[in-house]
Amino acid sequence: MTHALERPADERIDLIPNLPYLLLHLAPLGAIWTGFTPFDVALCVGFYSLRMFFITASYHRYFSHRSYKMGRVMQFLMALGGTLAVQKGPLWWAAHHRHHHKHSDQQADIHSPLKGFFWSHMGWIMCAKYRATELDQIKDFAKFPELRWLDKYHWVPPLVLGTAVFFLFGASALFFGYLLSLVLAWHCTYFINSLTHLFGRRRFVTTDTSRNSFILAIVCFGEGWHNNHHYYQSTANQGFYWWEVDISYYVLKVMSWLRLVSDLRTPPQHVLEANRIRDGHADIGMFQAKYAKAVVYLENAKSQAGEYVEERKRKLDEMVESTSEAAQEIARMHSKAPAK
Ligand SMILES: [Zn+2]
Ligand SMILES: [Zn+2]
Repeated sequence: MTHALERPADERIDLIPNLPYLLLHLAPLGAIWTGFTPFDVALCVGFYSLRMFFITASYHRYFSHRSYKMGRVMQFLMALGGTLAVQKGPLWWAAHHRHHHKHSDQQADIHSPLKGFFWSHMGWIMCAKYRATELDQIKDFAKFPELRWLDKYHWVPPLVLGTAVFFLFGASALFFGYLLSLVLAWHCTYFINSLTHLFGRRRFVTTDTSRNSFILAIVCFGEGWHNNHHYYQSTANQGFYWWEVDISYYVLKVMSWLRLVSDLRTPPQHVLEANRIRDGHADIGMFQAKYAKAVVYLENAKSQAGEYVEERKRKLDEMVESTSEAAQEIARMHSKAPAK
């Protein structure tokens, strides 16, 4: 056992079925042959921003947490936008994410970094056990047939758009504009499962290891305020103060002025003032994680100490054996030697 939380045998990375996914990581390298233009760079930034916005504002803050409201058509369009990030369908995504919040950094948590960094980052996505959509976790949205359809055929919209980009703007736009932004958006999303449970500061007491990171909040359109979010999940904003930059929330705010969305939930003042670590509240989440790590460390130390004792015993046995052989040899020589 090397990690604080042990992965059961069926939590393993299946390489072969994931080869297309892994190879897609190499596709942006096509730009080495095609080169790229300032337009392709703009396309890359544009597609990255679209994907990050839809994943955070739609898949995460709406479908997983219901932190604001919108009509049925808008709901479908936001789900459709989410599929462009190629992170499977909205129901699959939100169901797994709800599970993460229910069990964060406990044994049942699918992608806790306490089960290993790579596993939490993208290993769990490559595990057959988590390929299906857990409809039980997302009954509230699974009742919409159009969402169930999109969840099943989530790969169609990004494929159509990618093909359109190729035919409209050429190969360099596909490699640099469309596919590089896709790979970047993948890993920046994954950072929220891996890095924001490892690096950054904790403001609020939570039962997990979630942290706040300014850099990840910029890159991931507000999702870097992950400790805020684990503390109070139901808000449309994850940056709780004006200096906590939250691009997805700003866009949602503008959309609410345009009446495309409504009822954006924000944290009440008493929630913001309670459970602050700096006020001396015991940080149970970090205590649990460190305790789990300490147990692993002690178990390893115990087994290493056991191995050391075994090794010394074996050496001693060897010494005793070779000494007794030597003694027998000497005794034999003495018995053979002629008496004086
Ligand atoms: Zn969440
Ligand atoms: Zn988390």
